[in-house]
Amino acid sequence: MAQATSGLRREVRTRKQLPEKGIDWETLRAELVRRKRADYDWRNGRVPYLVYFVDEAVKRVQDESHAMFSVENALSAHSSYPSLGAMEDEIVQMGLELFNAPEGAGGQFTSGGTESIFQAVKVARGIKREARPDLGRLNIIAAYSRHPSVDKAAAILDLDIKYVDCRADYRADVDAIREAIDEASIFIYAGAPTIYYGLMDPMRELGELALETGVRLHSDACYGGFISPFARDLGYAIPEFDLSVPGVSSLSADLHKFGFAQKGASLVLFADGNDLEYARYVVPDLPGGSYASPTAQGSRSGGAVACAWTMLQHLGREGYREVVRGIMETTHAAMDGVRAIDGLYVFEPSGDTNLFRYDVEPGEPFNIFAVARLMNERGWMMGQHREPPAIHQPITLVHTPVLEEYLSDLAECVVIARRDRLQDTFLDGTY
Ligand SMILES: *Cc1c(COP(=O)(O)O)cnc(C)c1O
Repeated sequence: MAQATSGLRREVRTRKQLPEKGIDWETLRAELVRRKRADYDWRNGRVPYLVYFVDEAVKRVQDESHAMFSVENALSAHSSYPSLGAMEDEIVQMGLELFNAPEGAGGQFTSGGTESIFQAVKVARGIKREARPDLGRLNIIAAYSRHPSVDKAAAILDLDIKYVDCRADYRADVDAIREAIDEASIFIYAGAPTIYYGLMDPMRELGELALETGVRLHSDACYGGFISPFARDLGYAIPEFDLSVPGVSSLSADLHKFGFAQKGASLVLFADGNDLEYARYVVPDLPGGSYASPTAQGSRSGGAVACAWTMLQHLGREGYREVVRGIMETTHAAMDGVRAIDGLYVFEPSGDTNLFRYDVEPGEPFNIFAVARLMNERGWMMGQHREPPAIHQPITLVHTPVLEEYLSDLAECVVIARRDRLQDTFLDGTY
């Protein structure tokens, strides 16, 4: 007991405290600038993803539109701030159009892909529970390549996950998913594309399976949602993935990735708008009457809504197409550049959208993790894959001006790794 108390005291002494007197903004601003120096230099393309940036002019539009509504609370958008309510509705409508939703479809604006997927799983659970209250634990079927937000949804909603291996080409294995389905299955996860492999799962075949079995199919277009439709307009062969595919019940697409909205913005869309009934939260009997919120969040910034709405309007189809043209051209140039480096190969198939993986050719005396470390020592944040070993390389616009520098650093690192026969171990936790 005495020890615990002194431990607590020691902790209190070293704990950061509020300053007694507030510090002026100029000083704090300088401090923020100083602290930022510890971070990777994303403006110069040193981060493989996590940041989505067009240019300074577009950033100004993002910042200003966000700031105009940063104090408003979108929790009560439809009652207190009709402006935000209308913007949310319009964002959902534009999303339904973009992803070819059928008549009667509906959707929600959420804080991010994680919440979008959570909402889609909650709907699937609600519908199944109502239809089959006799069933015990329900389950989700997901390939090894899934995004971990589906694991989070299962943890929170108390569901099991049945994991299945991918096919040899790293797309979801429809036969394995068919095998895994049982009467307690509620949700098939499909990537559009998968975040780890950058490949579209076979949506049409999965849709057929969904229709045949009655299990809901979710198309997770969080990463590629705002790339694919525009890449297709530009003539890239983008496999089918959206709400026009029979059997797809729900789709998620992140506005705060390639929609170029500031963070805190995503869409979850339902082919049948009646599903929204299972998505909402209503607490009817409270001292204040009833409380209703569309999604899991309570208070949330109106800025995220206003910024997302503004970006869709400001870029428009033409703006997105031009941004996506740059991203796709850089992706193909990067893949060709890596292929041209002696000792490396790009996984095939690749390039369903704008990310790819590469590894060291068999028989070389060095491994890909050594290459990743050497690149990291030159300031590049490198995404590493454990299984199969790879460098994971998503492409955004910040990579276009630095592509040559990246490729020449990579070629040099390969030469060094080969010369010194470097074999590093996998560095977990990059992402
Ligand atoms: C980013 C992403 C998510 C999760 O989205 P957050 O916005 O990070 O919550 C889910 N699925 C895929 C494929 C993603 O790329």
